[in-house]
Amino acid sequence: MSRNPPGAMPRAICPCGSGKPYAACCEPIHLGLEPAATAEALMRSRYSAYVLGLEAYLRASWHVSTRPERVLHEDHASVKWLGLDVLRSGARGADTAFVEFVARSRVGGGRAERQHEISRFLREDGRWYYVDGEFPKR
Ligand SMILES: [Zn+2]
Repeated sequence: MSRNPPGAMPRAICPCGSGKPYAACCEPIHLGLEPAATAEALMRSRYSAYVLGLEAYLRASWHVSTRPERVLHEDHASVKWLGLDVLRSGARGADTAFVEFVARSRVGGGRAERQHEISRFLREDGRWYYVDGEFPKR
């Protein structure tokens, strides 16, 4: 009955918080149908990949110079992602950019955690990659 790939959420609102349907937001990026147009779009697609547990995509969008062996922890299914707020983003050079965001999550029955990060991104051959992040003091 469904023509959608396994795991897809055809009419659901995208987990990245854009307010757009997943199929018109992060899904084409996750499926490799189109590259993320901006560093912010890549960052949003990585947040929704954490929500959906897309290990392969998280690795593919991580720059090879800093990419870990594994991205998702074994207990990633117990993490409930509560939302993403992009605070600001911009260019630092022709092919470098940053995105400052707050991601909220809860592990098991624990209290909500707030991750405030300024991520760095690099563009190579027209594709954006996550490099690393700074964690501003509160
Ligand atoms: Zn999205």
